[in-house]
Amino acid sequence: MPPLLRVSDLRTYYVGFRGTRVVKAVDGVSFTLEPGETFGLVGESGCGKTTTCHSIVRLLAPSASIVSGSIELDGDDLVKKSQAEMRRIRGRRIATILQDPMASLDPLFSIGQQVAEPAYYHQSLRGQPLRQRVKELLTAVRIPSAERRMKDFPHQMSGGMRQRIVGAIAQAGGPRIIIADEPTTNLDVTIQLQYLNLLKELQRASGVALIFVTHNLGIVAKMCDKVAVMYAGKIVEMQSVRGLFYRPRHPYTRALLDSIPKLGVKEPLYGIPGQPPDLSDLPAGCSFHPRCRQAMDRCRIEDPWRHDMGDDASVRCWLPIEEAAARG
Ligand code: SF4
Repeated sequence: MPPLLRVSDLRTYYVGFRGTRVVKAVDGVSFTLEPGETFGLVGESGCGKTTTCHSIVRLLAPSASIVSGSIELDGDDLVKKSQAEMRRIRGRRIATILQDPMASLDPLFSIGQQVAEPAYYHQSLRGQPLRQRVKELLTAVRIPSAERRMKDFPHQMSGGMRQRIVGAIAQAGGPRIIIADEPTTNLDVTIQLQYLNLLKELQRASGVALIFVTHNLGIVAKMCDKVAVMYAGKIVEMQSVRGLFYRPRHPYTRALLDSIPKLGVKEPLYGIPGQPPDLSDLPAGCSFHPRCRQAMDRCRIEDPWRHDMGDDASVRCWLPIEEAAARG
């Protein structure tokens, strides 16, 4: 059976004025997502996580375009859809939760109206059944006195409540996939945990698949089944969460794990030297080589290919490729 979502060799580039500068934000990304699965996309800012998500829902900036690849949802290629067709898909089959809830909520409409909208358009609910559905969704995301608070506006809610309301809106159209792009970044630590637990609960109840974008590996460990580490527009390692934490294969993944503070260890924190590369002027060979502790001569000349490690796991690095070749 085909996966729920199959992204194959996706390339999304930003092109500057008169084509003078081409930024390869997403450069050959491939992964699959199964129903009910949580897939984590991690990496430093600017590595292409958000552009990958925006490509999936086809909400890209005017300067960006998908130059090749496919995004199959239940076998249906979203790259070939018109924007009118995508409007029927967004909300009903794929929904998004953004980092800043105020960017998703309209200050001029009550929260009841905003939660009702996807259920009205995508589930064809009207009148009392629609009102009942809005109440259920707000109750599910723990908005107290849901019926009374439907009339309130976003500015009358706390930051945590606003993010939970965005979660209710994402659920309202009955999607099969929710893309959550750094949804807890603006929340206090205690509220973050409550929100993550709530997302997991909603996922168990509805069976929705989640694509979870974050730079926080602690959140990945808590939330995800499978994780892809992105660097310079490419997935450099993909594994089960267990595999990634117990046997990371890519030097960048190992460096990210070494950067996590450890309880009781007083040594100075490890910081990855240097900066992520300029995506319009990538270094030759492996893009990570200027920062890699294990770079070899070959790394400065040749870009490693994607090495399949079985069980949907892969890595882009010469070290495991050469180890595998040595084993024969
Ligand atoms: Fe480091 Fe070379 Fe592997 Fe790139 S290919 S991550 S530079 S060892």
